[in-house]
Amino acid sequence: MKKKVLKFGGTSVGSIQRILHAAKIIKKEHDNGAKIIVVVSAMAGTTNNLIEHSKSISKKFNKRDLDVLLTSGEQVTSALISGALNDLGVKAKTWMNWQIPIITEGDHTNSRIINMSVDKINNYLSEGGVAVIPGFQGISKSGEITSIGRGGSDATAVAIAKIFQTESCEIYTDVDGVHSSDPNKIPLAKKIDKISYEEMLELSSLGAKVMQSSAVQAAMMNDIPIHVKSTFTNRKGTEIISEDNIDYRKAVTGVAYSKDDAKITLLGVADKPGVAADVFEPLSKNQINVDMVIQNISADGKKTDLTFTTKRQDSKNAVSLIESNKKIEYEKTHINDKVSKVSIVGAGMVTTPGITFKMFRSLAEEKINILAISTSEIKISVIIDENLTIDAVKKLHKTFNLD
Ligand code: ASP
Ligand code: MG
Repeated sequence: MKKKVLKFGGTSVGSIQRILHAAKIIKKEHDNGAKIIVVVSAMAGTTNNLIEHSKSISKKFNKRDLDVLLTSGEQVTSALISGALNDLGVKAKTWMNWQIPIITEGDHTNSRIINMSVDKINNYLSEGGVAVIPGFQGISKSGEITSIGRGGSDATAVAIAKIFQTESCEIYTDVDGVHSSDPNKIPLAKKIDKISYEEMLELSSLGAKVMQSSAVQAAMMNDIPIHVKSTFTNRKGTEIISEDNIDYRKAVTGVAYSKDDAKITLLGVADKPGVAADVFEPLSKNQINVDMVIQNISADGKKTDLTFTTKRQDSKNAVSLIESNKKIEYEKTHINDKVSKVSIVGAGMVTTPGITFKMFRSLAEEKINILAISTSEIKISVIIDENLTIDAVKKLHKTFNLD
């Protein structure tokens, strides 16, 4: 008998009506003979509201109690789902994480699942019951309630799929699956049937917010196939699987963009060993992530320009760290925070020549100036003027036959 994890996200359990609907989906799978473990998020908006409440109480609300507070959202939906299943005549039962237990390690509000006991739940599944488990929460070895980071129910679902060795892990959400670009902005974006873990990670870090990235990473490491599908339609969804199981007909799988980047340039930097390290070390110590780095060759062997990008919110801080660092010799700094990053992503790129050139040519045809470039095996990103973002995405979507 097939064992499955079905995970329902916040919007899928966002109202009583939706909870009743999710219960019907679960019943159908159960009637088809699968052994089912359900993982749920809190009702949409709940976790944010609880965070607001904590802030209204105190600016320094302690993290231990914050975990007790935040994990309550998932407790509510678990019990409601289980109740709805019982009402439909399905045997179902809720377990809080401490009852299983699901053991975590690490700091409050940012723990990781390291293990869980399977016996109680496996027994219940064998008796034909549906096990309902709240996502996002856990318990530490010393018995403290913990949570595993925002969006963490996805990670709970993947961890359960791994430890219970289920045949599948289905993520029910409010979109049909992963698209070749943002369907809200690019009407011609298409649903992708199969995508590799690596491509999904590149796309999600760029804004396709379908699944929590660390959960995709965990699925990749353990080769757990994920199926993302809509709670509200019967369409097929997207399978997130190993690249080996995908037959790549297209070089590019998707076009992503982010609009919260900034470009920082240091003009007239001394061209000598250690300069780049002196620039970037303080940034890393201050948790400022640097994305792209470009350094020109100096014509005279003495001075050069160094350009890099950061998140927009970090750019002012980055520049003031550089300006206050007396070790670095340069003439001046320049910030442009009206830039965006547009990326094409595709595992098919590896075997197709000429993709870089094709991307640059097609942006040139739209008169879009490229300010910086970075590439990896399955991704090419460019920094451009923010106002041209959607034009660029549309053009690339068309150029790479994704429309
Ligand atoms: N309720 C948690 C959050 O909003 C976890 C989740 O939904 O995955 O972050
Ligand atoms: Mg979520």
